[in-house]
Amino acid sequence: MPFELTLPFSAIVGQEQMKKALLLNAIDPAIGGVLIRGDRGTAKSSAVRALGRLLPDYEAVDQCPYRCDPAIPSRYCDECRRRANSGRLPVVRLPMRIVELPINASEDRLVGSIDIEAAVRAGTRRFQPGVLAEANRNLLYVDEVNLLDDHLVDVLLDAAAMGINVVEREGMSVTHPAHFILVGTMNPEEGELRPQLLDRFGLCVEVTTPPDIDQRLRVMELEREFLDNPQAVHRTAAPRELELYDRLQAATTRLDLVQLPDAIRALIARLCLDGSVAGHRADLVVARTARAICALRGAALVELADVLEALELALAHRRRDAAIDKPEQAQELASRAAEQLAQIQATTPTETAEAARGEATQQEGASGGESNEGWTTAEARESPSTEAVDVEPDTVIQLRTFAVKKLDLPRERQARRAAGKRTSTKSETKRGRYVRSSQNGKVTDVAFDATVRAAAPHQLRRRQATPDAPNQLQLESQDLRQKVRERKTGNLIVFVVDASASMDAEQRMQATKGAILSLLRHAYVRRDKVALVAFSGRNARVALRPTSSVDLAERRLERLNIGGTTPLTHGLMTALKLIKTERLRDPRVYPLLVLISDGRGNISLFGEEPLLEAQRTASQIKQEGIRAMVIDSTRDFSSQPGYPRNRVTSLYGAYAFNVCGDLAERLGGRYYGLFDLSQSAIVDSVQREMLRTGSA
Ligand SMILES: [Zn+2]
Repeated sequence: MPFELTLPFSAIVGQEQMKKALLLNAIDPAIGGVLIRGDRGTAKSSAVRALGRLLPDYEAVDQCPYRCDPAIPSRYCDECRRRANSGRLPVVRLPMRIVELPINASEDRLVGSIDIEAAVRAGTRRFQPGVLAEANRNLLYVDEVNLLDDHLVDVLLDAAAMGINVVEREGMSVTHPAHFILVGTMNPEEGELRPQLLDRFGLCVEVTTPPDIDQRLRVMELEREFLDNPQAVHRTAAPRELELYDRLQAATTRLDLVQLPDAIRALIARLCLDGSVAGHRADLVVARTARAICALRGAALVELADVLEALELALAHRRRDAAIDKPEQAQELASRAAEQLAQIQATTPTETAEAARGEATQQEGASGGESNEGWTTAEARESPSTEAVDVEPDTVIQLRTFAVKKLDLPRERQARRAAGKRTSTKSETKRGRYVRSSQNGKVTDVAFDATVRAAAPHQLRRRQATPDAPNQLQLESQDLRQKVRERKTGNLIVFVVDASASMDAEQRMQATKGAILSLLRHAYVRRDKVALVAFSGRNARVALRPTSSVDLAERRLERLNIGGTTPLTHGLMTALKLIKTERLRDPRVYPLLVLISDGRGNISLFGEEPLLEAQRTASQIKQEGIRAMVIDSTRDFSSQPGYPRNRVTSLYGAYAFNVCGDLAERLGGRYYGLFDLSQSAIVDSVQREMLRTGSA
């Protein structure tokens, strides 16, 4: 991206937590990345790009696809190790890059795969590096990480935590360094990350529109200035950018010297153990973050304030109970922390040399038996020489806390795969997204790319065996690979509800709200989403955007009113537009439109203009291939095939034209008469509909 297209980092107004979290990860990528949550238009991605400009160039081994650091031989790739044996490695200076992972990336693209061209031409198995290789020593940016396939997020976070990428496929076994600054962004309204993935991000920050009116004005003013003359904005910001660049550099250099006193380390362990925190990495992340905060403010000894700030950044997304009153909770935590620190210091008045010697055993307990952190493995190996310089007998260096056994990584990854922990979401049909391939069993759905990759190394030999067809790709049955598909996105259930004032409007709305919350709480797949379009008054509005968040739905639905007349067509059109938008964003989404109405209101009963419009819209929805169903709150029977739906007797008057039944027919969906409309009746019929169309 050209220099002028995004704001300078130092010019970004507000969003202090986001900026801080980004800087801390730049100082110490081993913190484990940052997840930035926030609505659209909260400058998440411009902040990431702006950070890119503050990151320094680095020295790398020339011609190495992973840009190995010449100064750290322990992290060399195999090739650099080999080259290092036969003399000095050539060095180049490279700029730090922002490597972006597209959300439709395949596993091959992420981890790398066999180089097909080399395999076919020369019969050699050569590794074609993927995004994780490109990301080594750079910044890896995943926009909309919540829309990324869970399996890929898993692989990504594994690599981030271990600092290496392990690839075992097509007869290749490749391990290469993958140390990167990980930044993910997401809009929670578009679906949450699974909690197991959420707490594997080191830090997490929420960005919101600034509540302060002055700040909002400043943001707008700056945006205008930037649009008019981006160069001028960059010129004005240059001195501050330079100062920040220097500060960041100094902090990175200082990080190794920052000390974490015993008492502070004990405090962190205590605070993270008190039961309200999920995930076992919390104390490690808090300790690392506190050290980076200390380095950034230019100090050498971690203090209570650093720990408190670190807790805020590292614990919000690990807490099991959502914070109700954040400021009050922070206040409470601060005083509890101070109290505990005083207590710890009172029981160990002087941290003696004896205590320091007993360190090794003590620390195993303090770090909670943590032993699978590749990052720390690497650093632990290097730390003694660099750390020993500044050590006083009564302080303990944090890095040594994490000294761990060497891991047998490839085996661990394979074992996890074999366990097949996400079989439940694997799709048996040919629907769903192709996420990877397998070699097992009967092949019914050929993964061509994987098959070609498997066959590639054998081409030279096979061609020699059959000289009459020298230019053909020769496949044998053992090359065949099956596609493994996953239906990640799940359903999008769009309720279109008549909110016009009528006898049963209140009940209808209450039942619908209840049904929405119930469907969200019992979502079949994590990524099921529900949306609500309410029509009444002059038009229809989206009362709830597609979301999988129960909290959000509760908040939005609380303020939903009833009243007015009934423009049914608007309701259907609004729903159609919403579904089309959602499909653009995520083509895998599987929508179900649920119209809930009494079919009366101001809809003309005898085929005049408003009804024709509604009928046309219904046909259009069917043409778009959107599943639909209609729940009629004035009739009392379930859908029966062959029933003359459009001439059914209304409870409110004989011979009335059945608007709902007619629309159901045009929508190509089922018609349910639910006179006794209740939350469970809606949920039952929606679930029946989802099962009927085999959506799970
Ligand atoms: Zn290398």
